[in-house]
Amino acid sequence: MTATALPATGSTFDEVMSALDDFLALEPDRRRGHMSCYAMKGGTDVQRVLQAGYNKYFGFNALVRRYFPGYQRIEQEVLETAAGLLGGKATGAVTAMTAGGTESIFCAVHAAREWARETRPEIIAPEFVAPYSLHATFSKACHYLGVKLRRIPVGPDYRGDPEAMAAAIGPNTVGLAASAPCWSYGLYDPIDEIAAIARDRGLWMHVDACVGGFLAPFVKKAGHPLPAWDFSVEGVTSISADLHKFGFAAFPCSIVGFRDESLLRFHQVFPDDWPSMKYMAQAFSGSRPASSAVGAWTMFQYLGEDGYVRLARETMEGKARMSEGIAAIPGLKPWATDLSILVYESTDPTVPVEKIVGGLTELGWPCGGTLEPPLVHLVMDPLAAGTVDDYLKDLARVVESVRSGKPVQTGSLSYVD
Ligand SMILES: *Cc1c(COP(=O)(O)O)cnc(C)c1O
Repeated sequence: MTATALPATGSTFDEVMSALDDFLALEPDRRRGHMSCYAMKGGTDVQRVLQAGYNKYFGFNALVRRYFPGYQRIEQEVLETAAGLLGGKATGAVTAMTAGGTESIFCAVHAAREWARETRPEIIAPEFVAPYSLHATFSKACHYLGVKLRRIPVGPDYRGDPEAMAAAIGPNTVGLAASAPCWSYGLYDPIDEIAAIARDRGLWMHVDACVGGFLAPFVKKAGHPLPAWDFSVEGVTSISADLHKFGFAAFPCSIVGFRDESLLRFHQVFPDDWPSMKYMAQAFSGSRPASSAVGAWTMFQYLGEDGYVRLARETMEGKARMSEGIAAIPGLKPWATDLSILVYESTDPTVPVEKIVGGLTELGWPCGGTLEPPLVHLVMDPLAAGTVDDYLKDLARVVESVRSGKPVQTGSLSYVD
């Protein structure tokens, strides 16, 4: 079935489904592609439960939640649970649901800009200062919002450099941002030090915990030490954290959190200058699937704290096994990353990282990388943990093929291209 224009006549259910199955057959194997291109997931039972919960509210529009008292309760429970997980109980943090990390970050930059307009009206060209490793989508948000983003080189340990950031603060700086952890290296910036600078200088401080926000609390409970990063750190004003990553919810589902309720007025915008009067949405998106919050709620209830801790343990064990296995392959060196992201470099000039990425992709392990410096990038999760041995076997094969000069395709180290 090919259809580049609307077909003149419809097809049967079976025909349409079988055509979709043909498309699906072209996609990478779900288990092998898991470390790079599918959502972080907890395993087949978790996915089955998620899908069932999601489908219960299929077709409900969360924008008009005033009609849905049941849904309102679900969403409110997710928002309050999320605020607690982000360390926000003591500060009275408030959260809003968004359609992903990009929207969460957009909302945080927007609120910071509005806050600065009120508190520092003399600034007409607002700026944010952040480590070079801050996620690209922050640049996008700043661009849309007329905010300049000054990316400051990371330190020799590839983490944000608080001193260099402090030195870059100028008269137009309204906020600082940092990652917990960043995507490219899987490392936490020193959030406490950067937040202390923000507090002392009266600046907004955003923590991008999109990938780590709903994993870190459970990794910590599983006994792994982690740096402080959430609202318990004084000076942290807003946080982005994706439920569709380690909350194990379905796309699109993310949270933007603000330190306390007084900041909500810088986030909320309710236009009423059109024929239908007041327009109230939770964030930037209008119509959005109620199923997003329902999926998150389903996961919170099904897994509970002990379930999330178990999955966090499986994730960290999988990462440790992967890291040991990579270190045992001559010419490869895994970095000591903080959470679920694992990156590794090649120490053998005859084995370029682009070739490893290309070779793995050829063997059915689609993967990405980091360009500066060249690194292979993967995200461990409980499902991927079950594929570590197969991955390592194929990785050793790829490295050997490249080293011996066999033709291997060249891969791309870019995030999304
Ligand atoms: C995934 C991610 C984002 C962007 O999130 P989307 O949901 O893709 O919009 C931002 N920051 C970090 C650290 C991320 O891992």
